[in-house]
Amino acid sequence: MLKNNGKKAALSVASTACLCLLLLLLAVQHHRAQVDEVTDGENTGTRSLLQDSAPEEENAQLGDSQVKKGFSAYFTKLTRARREVEKPAGSSASAADAPPAEDISADDIFIAVKTTKKFHQSRLNLLLDTWISRNMQQTYIFTDGDDEELKETIGSHAINTNCSAAHSRQALSCKMAVEYDNFIESGKKWFCHVDDDNYVNVQTLVKYLSQYPHTQDMYIGKPSLDRPIEATERLGDNKMKPVNFWFATGGAGFCVSRGLALKMSPWASGGHFMNTAEKIRLPDDCTIGYIIESVLGVPLTRSNLFHSHLENLQQVSRSEIHKQITLSYGMFENKSNIISLKGAFSVEEDPSRFKSVHCLLYPDTPWCPPQVAF
Ligand code: UDP
Ligand code: MN
Repeated sequence: MLKNNGKKAALSVASTACLCLLLLLLAVQHHRAQVDEVTDGENTGTRSLLQDSAPEEENAQLGDSQVKKGFSAYFTKLTRARREVEKPAGSSASAADAPPAEDISADDIFIAVKTTKKFHQSRLNLLLDTWISRNMQQTYIFTDGDDEELKETIGSHAINTNCSAAHSRQALSCKMAVEYDNFIESGKKWFCHVDDDNYVNVQTLVKYLSQYPHTQDMYIGKPSLDRPIEATERLGDNKMKPVNFWFATGGAGFCVSRGLALKMSPWASGGHFMNTAEKIRLPDDCTIGYIIESVLGVPLTRSNLFHSHLENLQQVSRSEIHKQITLSYGMFENKSNIISLKGAFSVEEDPSRFKSVHCLLYPDTPWCPPQVAF
């Protein structure tokens, strides 16, 4: 009897212990599952933010409970900003993706086109028929001779600089000086200079410049050299000083914010630009680089969206032509250098490719063939 009772008691203790152990196991399992769930949730949230961070307006609306996500987005943004800087100079994505810092329109940009009378027919007319026709209010032509036809087309925006028509350093600097003074007088937010062999995609330019406040010191363009230019600054008393600086090549076009342009005034306004150019004995675009980088200490912001004919234009990817800010045509290493575009016109009809580019960007232009398959 006692033996039986003992057995029963042992069994009941054992089964209770088993039950307790089972309950304990179940509880541990449940807790682990809950922890896993939370961790998973956190991971998903962070991962999704890292891959595709919320736009600024969305972040601004985040509640307190999402502060953590906000921080993730903030760091993602910082990383992205760093990537932009490290990227080989403003690839096309940067203009399209970056959030605007300022809501500007084409009217806020002063586009100066440098030309010379002998190129009015051969070069300028092509620009007037293409990109300038869409941007008359923003474009100013700086030339060296009167042209009634040009005046009829663009009125007071045709500016006779009265500079020499030569391709000399002095003549080019003379024109740049007049461009600068007219920009300052215009009160506009951005100064952009181009040559008469440049096509300007103004819509992309507006989008690109809106990334930066015009009050910030900004000098944007593309160098044509792979290292800073080495120059000698004449200090007077026959003293010389070596200077090294980057400059944006004028043939690709470049832009300067109003904030920075105002600071350039002591070296660029009135007759000062010519004096500064003489001090380093370099052409107009180098002088701009010298004033900005060497004198004012503001670095050039490189953008691969600006193109001169000093680079191989065949390398501009066909599918990205509409994303570029400037294009050019001309000679490079003794060969014809044009962008590769199978467009509305043949190379014979449109040797610069600018008419084809224009029809790609503005297919509603009356002289563009309808419904062209590119
Ligand atoms: N240019 C000028 N005067 C001249 C020759 C050229 O103002 O006597 C201008 C021309 O209209 C263009 C720029 O200078 O806007 C560069 O000229 P070009 O394209 O012929 O030479 P590049 O320097 O590009 O080889
Ligand atoms: Mn040129």
